[in-house]
Amino acid sequence: MFGIWGHKQAAEITYYGLHATQHRGQEGAGIVSNDGAELLIHKDVGLLNDVFGRPDLGQLNGEAAIGHVHYVTNQDTGYENVQPHLFHSQSGSVALAHSGNIMNAHDLRGELENEGSIFHTKADTELLAHLIRRNGKEITEPGIISAFKKLVGAYTFLILTEDKLYAAVDPFGIRPLSIGRIGESYVVASETCAFDLVGAKFDREILPGELVTISRAGIESARFAVREQRHLCAMEYVYFSRPDSDLNYVNVHASRKRMGIELAKEAPVEADVVTGVPDSSISAAIGYAEQTGLPYEMGLIKNRYVGRTFIKPSQEMREQGVKMKLSPVRGIVEGKRVVMIDDSIVRGTTSIRIVKMLKEAGAKEVHVRIASPPIKNPCYYGIDMSTREELIAANKEIEDIREVLGADSVAYLSPDGLEKAIVKDKTINQGICNACMTGQYPVGTEENKQSFLTN
Ligand code: SF4
Repeated sequence: MFGIWGHKQAAEITYYGLHATQHRGQEGAGIVSNDGAELLIHKDVGLLNDVFGRPDLGQLNGEAAIGHVHYVTNQDTGYENVQPHLFHSQSGSVALAHSGNIMNAHDLRGELENEGSIFHTKADTELLAHLIRRNGKEITEPGIISAFKKLVGAYTFLILTEDKLYAAVDPFGIRPLSIGRIGESYVVASETCAFDLVGAKFDREILPGELVTISRAGIESARFAVREQRHLCAMEYVYFSRPDSDLNYVNVHASRKRMGIELAKEAPVEADVVTGVPDSSISAAIGYAEQTGLPYEMGLIKNRYVGRTFIKPSQEMREQGVKMKLSPVRGIVEGKRVVMIDDSIVRGTTSIRIVKMLKEAGAKEVHVRIASPPIKNPCYYGIDMSTREELIAANKEIEDIREVLGADSVAYLSPDGLEKAIVKDKTINQGICNACMTGQYPVGTEENKQSFLTN
């Protein structure tokens, strides 16, 4: 997600901001701008470049905008799910974009429908729009705060009205959102790599349970929840975010490298060469090589023009994606004992294929080392791994996983090792969520979510 307030090229800058965060969602893209009189929208399914041409951007006038790239969870594909969503009423228009998952959305929707609300989409953004309007016709800060207090889940929201831009983070800070500056203008982005691309300077992270309001009057902050501990999604560091982003004041590449170092301490192996699965595992592979003293080599190369396999919606598409995406470098792996570092194993599809590729290219041994703990539990907080059945580590012991992968050995990083690699300083609230690995859910599960209401 990306938002901007107070810049003449608002839509264009939002486009570039979204470009930097395209890896966060590839199923759709959209921008809403505020031209001072009304909110204007352009969105569609597809990659950002397919959705936006220069004429589309040229029509999005105004000095404020929000944009979103759509990441599919629960098969919510299709135009109607592409964000931002724009709602009109007699009291004005409002555009909303969000990332994450509202766990009590179904219950709240039922309550609102019983009170007479009519929903046009299945989107959580529409749910928030109804909750805000329940507190009065005008969109106001108290109305938004009261709406957020009804939500249980992991989320970040951007809300654009005709005179304000709001940005909010869930009470546990599971999803990231940062504020930056371009001169006098404010920008908000899911990842700081977007700031670098648009020439913005990082200002600060939005705090868990914080609502930031940006308007002509400047920037204001209010809290709708204050917790002792942040629980930023560990998978943001492991896999999801770009290495050049900083999350909670920790650089993603540096944390991945430390994951590799910790993994090497925990699970060394006799080998000739270390290689990483591009791109997200390369940092950990460099760390592993550095710690063991083994040479790091590019044993696998990536075809740049194929999307990420993990965020493709169906299993069939994922398998096709893996085949098109990676190739082994025979000259590097032939006759060698290879340590293959991967950031994580979710379903196992990619790892099976890669081990096979490396062996077919002549690798004598393939030792799989995973720079995060086994993923055994579903995520209820907005990452697409919603059932235990699809998770290889939920159903198999390590030796069985080794057999399925066709590897010579398999080892994972421990939860302690992962925490050591990510959390530099607990006193500045750098806690993480690792529920998919440990089963300790900071915002509860489907069964007990109600007890996690803010008040
Ligand atoms: S359960 Fe896993 S994927 Fe979901 S928010 Fe927590 S760490 Fe991230």
